Amino acid sequence: MDRPLQVYHDADISPAPLAAARVAVLGYGSQGRAQALNLRDAGLAVTVAVRAAGPGWRRAREDGFAPAAPADAVKGADVVAVLVPDEVQGAFFAAAVAPGLAAGAMVVFAHGGAVHFKEVSPPPGVDVTLVAPMGPGRLLRQYYEAGGGLNAKVAVAQDATGRAWLRALAFGRALGCGRAGIIATTFAEEAKLDLFSEQAVLCGGVPALAEAAFETLVAAGYPPALAYIECVREIKYIADLMFEFGLEGMRRRVSSTALYGGASRGPRVVGAEARRALREILAEIESGAFAAEMKKRFPGRDKLLDAVRNERLEDAAREVREIVGPPPEA
Ligand code: NAD
Ligand code: MG
Repeated sequence: MDRPLQVYHDADISPAPLAAARVAVLGYGSQGRAQALNLRDAGLAVTVAVRAAGPGWRRAREDGFAPAAPADAVKGADVVAVLVPDEVQGAFFAAAVAPGLAAGAMVVFAHGGAVHFKEVSPPPGVDVTLVAPMGPGRLLRQYYEAGGGLNAKVAVAQDATGRAWLRALAFGRALGCGRAGIIATTFAEEAKLDLFSEQAVLCGGVPALAEAAFETLVAAGYPPALAYIECVREIKYIADLMFEFGLEGMRRRVSSTALYGGASRGPRVVGAEARRALREILAEIESGAFAAEMKKRFPGRDKLLDAVRNERLEDAAREVREIVGPPPEA
């Protein structure tokens, strides 16, 4: 498992395999919008496809695209980027993508899940690739406009033309990701790592821990707004340090009190019980149990969202926004 990463930069990637390519971007949400704009700026012929009269349609028109219906955009496209939500990709692909795919076209996903867990079954004769920017669409666009890029992961599930890798890399380059580095992976690996990191850390573990800490302070009588600043808002500063310097580098840059307090107390917060939960969460991903929930389009999602919503924390967040104003770069 311990293998050196294979990383590609602009200098290693020829844009030629996509020269004159007609690209259909399906979906105009977080990734769809950012990818369509970057690809257009990179000189590719981009058609945006969204459902008629949806919010994406209006947004795409405002951005200067002439949106098409997905099934129409797929016909005659050399590259088809599937950027609708993961849980609808199965039905969407069968209805709007598969029937119109030209032989030799390349289908690009931004997450490995639908292919790895067999939600979609691409026909033979097309390339099936993954180009997954490693961050939100908003940043994919912002970094690109500033002359930089987000990292991306790239993989090939089906190489019908013999040029799938070269075309996938060229696609990543056009997104600006070759400026930062494009990392070779597999659909299986990307699907599982992406799900695990968002569940265990990014969108699950960290928010749950921050909320529990907030509740602990509020229950002990501390002002919610202050508890919110300390336990939620300041995550950004520590995350920025970890982003740049790693965990050890972060520890060397905080006060000696924070260093000692964190090192002595942190392992108590994430003890045997939390580690057991992490192993179970990974096992549910690897066994396909989570994918089964995705296939059912996340049963009970609205109830779940209500259940995790913490009114007191959101009130505190609003109060804090009024007190301290927007972040400096906004
Ligand atoms: P999103 O929800 O922001 O946008 C989805 C788009 O698809 C919207 O335009 C929406 O109107 C449209 N859509 C929704 N349901 C549809 C349907 N039934 N038929 C047709 N169109 C429909 O989604 P996103 O976050 O951009 O995710 C797209 C893909 O990118 C996913 O595979 C996701 O895993 C991947 N990804 C997302 C991020 C991110 O930060 N958001 C990062 C990396 C990869
Ligand atoms: Mg994800």
